Amino acid sequence: MSRVKSSNLGYPRIGQNREWKKALEAFWAGKVEEADFKKQMEQIRLHHIQKQIDKGIDYIPVGDFTLYDHMLDTAVMFGIVPERFSYTGGAVSLQTYFSMARGCQAAVACEMTKWFNTNYHYIVPELGDVTPTLTENKPLIAYREAKEKLGVKGKPVVVGPYTFIKLSKGYTETQLPAIILQLVPLYAQILQELAAEGVEWVQFDEPILVTSVTTEEMETVKYIYTQLHEAAPELNIMLQTYFDSVECYSELKDLPVQGIGLDFVHGLEKNIQSLVESGFPDDKVLGVGLVDGRNIWRSDLDSKIQLLHKITDAVPKDRLWLQPSSSLLHVPVALTQEKNLDPLVKDALAFADEKLDEVLCLLKGLQDGENAVADSLRNSQAALDRLAKSPVRNCVSVHEAVASVQSKDISRHSAFEQRQTKQQKSLGLPLLPTTTIGSFPQTSDVRQARQKWRKSELSTEQYDEFIRDQVKTWIDIQEEIGLDVLVHGEFERTDMVEFFGEKLGGFAFTQNGWVQSYGSRCVRPPVIYGDVEFLEPMTVKESMYAQSLTEKPVKGMITGPVTILNWSFVRDDLSRNQVSDQIALALRKEVEALESAGIRVIQVDEPALREGFPLKKTEWSVYLDWAVKSFRLATSSVQDTTQIHTHMCYSEFHDFIDSISDLDADVISIEASRSHGELMHSFRNHAYNKEIGLGVYDIHSPRIPSVDEIVSTIELALQVLEPTQFWINPDCGLKTRNKEEVVASLKNMVAATHITRDRL
Ligand code: GLN
Ligand code: ZN
Repeated sequence: MSRVKSSNLGYPRIGQNREWKKALEAFWAGKVEEADFKKQMEQIRLHHIQKQIDKGIDYIPVGDFTLYDHMLDTAVMFGIVPERFSYTGGAVSLQTYFSMARGCQAAVACEMTKWFNTNYHYIVPELGDVTPTLTENKPLIAYREAKEKLGVKGKPVVVGPYTFIKLSKGYTETQLPAIILQLVPLYAQILQELAAEGVEWVQFDEPILVTSVTTEEMETVKYIYTQLHEAAPELNIMLQTYFDSVECYSELKDLPVQGIGLDFVHGLEKNIQSLVESGFPDDKVLGVGLVDGRNIWRSDLDSKIQLLHKITDAVPKDRLWLQPSSSLLHVPVALTQEKNLDPLVKDALAFADEKLDEVLCLLKGLQDGENAVADSLRNSQAALDRLAKSPVRNCVSVHEAVASVQSKDISRHSAFEQRQTKQQKSLGLPLLPTTTIGSFPQTSDVRQARQKWRKSELSTEQYDEFIRDQVKTWIDIQEEIGLDVLVHGEFERTDMVEFFGEKLGGFAFTQNGWVQSYGSRCVRPPVIYGDVEFLEPMTVKESMYAQSLTEKPVKGMITGPVTILNWSFVRDDLSRNQVSDQIALALRKEVEALESAGIRVIQVDEPALREGFPLKKTEWSVYLDWAVKSFRLATSSVQDTTQIHTHMCYSEFHDFIDSISDLDADVISIEASRSHGELMHSFRNHAYNKEIGLGVYDIHSPRIPSVDEIVSTIELALQVLEPTQFWINPDCGLKTRNKEEVVASLKNMVAATHITRDRL
């Protein structure tokens, strides 16, 4: 009897020590020749495959590796290169490839956006008027390389046609059929060449099928896969979904493919229900996404075994592939280098390599019986128990505080209109008040001082003195520019989440827990492992100092609960909204501390609120309810005269303005300069009545906006928004800009404001 198989969907690219990132950046900096660069990348790629061979994974992904992004690879494979890159056909050069990703002198980069609900960002293909052709068979090249160099028959991974098209832009609904007709034959050709090479299985990633897909759309999917099957009937396709449960299971299970991969972590309940209720076809393999590919916690192996028993009631063992729930791209590589983590935490973690070990352990348990893996099960259970029972997860005061939140705790004392009047009186701001979003340039001086302090080359007193100097310099600059609401500049912060995580209870930081965010940029999310507790004021010292230097109001500046949650690895024994409320209660104390220290304006940033949207529209309202509640929990206890601001970076706002209004912040600033008209109208159509700052210039560019252009931007906004409602500010924080750019731009912004005020 053939046995249960193991499979992997994708392996992290960045390398144990971010070798991948370093190679890329050295190449971009011109320090490495193209041939050497390619050699280095090949070594990294083969090393990752070798690791999986050594572990004994049956179906090892090939072609999941990339030099930047897998969506970009797919676009380039089909010659989908926007006109502005002057591509003339044939193989796409490395130079053009990176220009599309990063922009070049002659052309702006392609848009980049979030990959589903992850923090990975992909390059958006521009289908437009380009006619796709097959420039190279990337999956085939990857397959051959692994076979020739390592003697392994890999499983090529391809972004499936439907997902690829749906995530692309530059076409209208009516053009969709034509695009499908163009692309499907190219996919078919890829498959035919793979079949001729003797490839057995190909993984087609179709995560789009877990979003809100209609049965009508499933007709299109059926058409696509029927064509592909007919083109290469001898080849097996594993149609892989992940990140949630599939929407149209009945239609999906009847597609002419040989395997279907489902996520039994993130879509567990519904996927199991579909399987039990509608059955699973006899002629297909089920890819069982068992081990969480999105989070860093060790699996509860006992419960996974129980789950497998349930699954084997519906599908015989010899038709199962055990695998992670998604590509391991979203988790760090291996735990081996974590030397500083508390063993309590470290023992409860599993990164990519450990997750593959878990898959293999579950496989052995299913194949040979649980006794065969008794030790592993016991160890894993013991580690999870230790953490579950430890005081860090059983902080009675935190649990009680969350449980006893009442509606009065999430409501300001008075309604917005009354607060507004009181705030106008107490703050005495002019019409169209000017302000910034919080950070000023994080220069290399600032970063070096922090490094030195961390290495104890600077004493805490010296470092504090350095920060105070920066604050003073920039308060003076803001006074001279004539801004109305000042900020301290955030010089003491590395980033928006780490800074707070380091000061709150319940957070841990890895040494090497990097994951790819986009291109060569990697992030190291904090780990929320315990109950989140306020320990001591985190931002009061700097804000108070800044306020002591000026008569103008200084805006206190903290990161909101939902953003801290969405940019961390979060414990999975509590629901996300419970953790969010814990963070909110801790931040509430910070807000109160700022208020007590005389800070009259407090900004609670929520740039990641939109990012947390569930993949299915039907689940949005539940998310928004608790996200809004957490924000309000953090901000509602202040006096009417204390003005609460929030800030969000660019996102689709039109579909959730009512929720933005429910945040009940007195002022919201949003990134808007790239889509001004559209945003203004959205807010007006929703009769948004609170105060609002639509960013009047783009901070992502070094370009200094002229007074005239800012005047027209403001005047445009004033056609739909009341002058009593409108604030003037840049799009976002200014930490990536240099001093000259910031000063010149803000001077123009203030001059433009004066001109507009005089005309009112
Ligand atoms: N206050 C933060 C800053 O100015 C906000 C950053 C953000 O929105 N991402 O840097
Ligand atoms: Zn922003």
